[in-house]
Amino acid sequence: MRHDPIITARACPLCGAGADQAEPFLADSRDETRLSASSFASRKVPEYMSHAMVCCRACDLAYVDRPPSVESLAASYHAADYDSADEAEDAADAYARALAPVLEKLKGRGAALEIGTGTAAFLDRLEGAGFAELVGVEPSSAAIAAAPDHRRPWIREGIFEEANFAPDSFDLICCFMTLEHVQDPGALVASALRLLKPGGVFVGVTHDRRAWLNRLLGRRSPIVDVEHMQLFSAQSARRLLEHNGYEAVGGASFRNSYRPSYWLRLVPMPGALKHRLTRLLRGSWFDRWHLPLNVGNFMSWGFKPY
Ligand SMILES: [Zn+2]
Repeated sequence: MRHDPIITARACPLCGAGADQAEPFLADSRDETRLSASSFASRKVPEYMSHAMVCCRACDLAYVDRPPSVESLAASYHAADYDSADEAEDAADAYARALAPVLEKLKGRGAALEIGTGTAAFLDRLEGAGFAELVGVEPSSAAIAAAPDHRRPWIREGIFEEANFAPDSFDLICCFMTLEHVQDPGALVASALRLLKPGGVFVGVTHDRRAWLNRLLGRRSPIVDVEHMQLFSAQSARRLLEHNGYEAVGGASFRNSYRPSYWLRLVPMPGALKHRLTRLLRGSWFDRWHLPLNVGNFMSWGFKPY
């Protein structure tokens, strides 16, 4: 699986600042011989490979300044493996808990759209919260195949395109752990703003590269990932929404709750040892528990002005 980078360095995909505002952030650590269909799968065992990234002094976004084309990214996600349906349910529960205070401020419960819906686990939670119409967009055929039957009618296969939806039609648009993966996150949230009804809300979940755990792990953090075209901080995640016309922008870190065997997957240690420990844990009584941890995930939101 090979990506052809664009030739010229791009401007900051958040604020538009040029190369003169960019400083080196991560060196290119890709090893083509280790890239596979699982490299583009959700919640894979971390590979600690990344494209070269720079950091924008103007807005705090770290980004790949020579990204692969939109077409080659779409092809990689379409063909990606999927093996994390259980963890998708745990993640959906964590997102629902974090989103509850935001939903209290939202008046409408009409239509909701999730960009990068996976198995549509979160749409199930939104149905429980009273949303009348549910739509999810997902490029990975394997993820859609892993979705329970009752969720399939909600899912549209492909990458998100604004033209497929009516303007002013959604009360809520969600994009969880996907803003890092698209080539132009500013274009995505600007499209979402046009698709929201006035008073509707966009909610994103991103990694916070400045969270203590990510700073501590450095290059051995799971956020160092060949899938990531940019990495946000709490500051730049909020700024993305402010810069694109949202109001009442806010954000909060939150805890994810997973089985210990899943958390182990993210710990930097030799692969053979990790594999053995994971096999020991799986099926043990200890692994039935869920362990809530703050690992630097950040929820940001902004409302469409009336
Ligand atoms: Zn910038």
